[in-house]
Amino acid sequence: MSDSVQRSVDIAIVGGGLVGASLACALTPYIDRHGLEVAVIEAAPLPSTSATPYQPSFDARASAIALGSQQRFTAFGLWSALAEHAEPIRTIHVSERGRWGAARLHAHELGVDALGHVIPNAWIGRVLHQHLERLSLQWHCPARVESITAQAGGHRLVLSDGSDLTAALTVLADGGRSGLKEALGIDSQASSYEQTAVITTVEVSRPHGGVAYERFTPAGPLALLPLRGQRMELVWTHPQGSEQGRLGLADGDFLAALQRTFGDRVGRFRRLGQRHHYPLSLVTAEEPVRPGLAVLGNAAHALHPVAGQGFNLALRGVTDLVAALEHGLARGQSPGDISLLKDFEHRRMVDRHNVIRFSDGLIRLFGIDHPLLSHARAAGLVGLNMVGPLRRTLARRAMGIER
Ligand SMILES: Cc1cc2nc3c(=O)[nH]c(=O)nc-3n(C[C@H](O)[C@H](O)[C@H](O)COP(=O)(O)OP(=O)(O)OC[C@H]3O[C@@H](n4cnc5c(N)ncnc54)[C@H](O)[C@@H]3O)c2cc1C
Repeated sequence: MSDSVQRSVDIAIVGGGLVGASLACALTPYIDRHGLEVAVIEAAPLPSTSATPYQPSFDARASAIALGSQQRFTAFGLWSALAEHAEPIRTIHVSERGRWGAARLHAHELGVDALGHVIPNAWIGRVLHQHLERLSLQWHCPARVESITAQAGGHRLVLSDGSDLTAALTVLADGGRSGLKEALGIDSQASSYEQTAVITTVEVSRPHGGVAYERFTPAGPLALLPLRGQRMELVWTHPQGSEQGRLGLADGDFLAALQRTFGDRVGRFRRLGQRHHYPLSLVTAEEPVRPGLAVLGNAAHALHPVAGQGFNLALRGVTDLVAALEHGLARGQSPGDISLLKDFEHRRMVDRHNVIRFSDGLIRLFGIDHPLLSHARAAGLVGLNMVGPLRRTLARRAMGIER
């Protein structure tokens, strides 16, 4: 699309990744019924329209989608399509290498069929984007927001496709790496975990039975999530720098190293998919809202993937933002009205704080190599098996229904 005339929209969503595209889908009723003008700007070409299929949000990863997120996608009318490639998580198994303690959280104890589902990101992307194609919104892709400036009544966005937009509300869902947040003077608190996650898909020789494994090792946590068939998604954390050795291994050597680290709970590790790696940090934006602006998803909070919470947390942000917009629009407010946005931020604060404390706390607790502490952790994991209410609280958090 090429357009040099300045155009006004009610809402501009910067980034059509997991979070930006989900927000656009959640806005469907307002676009359809109330004529809300929405623009989505996504820098990377979509796989179907590009010879280079890499798209940062919808790459080879698979995401653990909590029960609460499933309920949200159901409300957006997208769950039945997502479910086509979703594998249920029936049990979460948490253990520490070299220690006898292990905790198991079962779906049936909570009276639910599944604690969550694992869905390939590429499939989530396909479902979201196919839905967006049916909506009457401005879809700028591939187009990058090159500059953003505050002006009366909102922000002005200049796009790499030549478009010039003014938006009453701009939602930054750009993953936080584009420099736009910084250009607006929004600071972030960032601390590196000095770890890198290596992700890939592995084929296993025994049926996984819907078990998601979280195994803490001295080098960092390792997660194996159930996928359709006898395949699992591996998220294997390494101390920063050491992942290069692992990435460079021949497939057979990589599988042997994984077998040594994880053991044989799922039998033999057989085939391996493509490997990707992600440096891990905890990043939080210090000013998630200001007049005419809201920051969402990784741009607002990038977490350690240990507990599979980042996207689930962001999706709760999406529904809270839509709820605040609905309330504000009904009162005749502009979508960028600061009191509406503060209402949204007020709803988010506690949830965000709790999830960050939970996932960051896990990393710090299991990252401390002290004999006394590791005995306490083992006792804690065993104790967790015996204490019903605590286990249920943990399971509810994993399901995204405990805030
Ligand atoms: C290894 C790993 C495993 C994970 N597993 C889970 C899990 O199991 N469950 C879970 O809930 N979470 C998980 N997460 C977290 C989850 O992936 C993130 O929360 C999610 O990707 C955030 O999505 P986003 O849309 O905010 O950002 P991104 O995924 O980074 O997307 C941002 C989008 O904005 C676009 N963009 C950037 N700059 C511009 C610009 N200037 N103009 C226009 N477009 C732009 C990019 O092209 C991109 O498409 C995991 C993360 C990692 C690293």
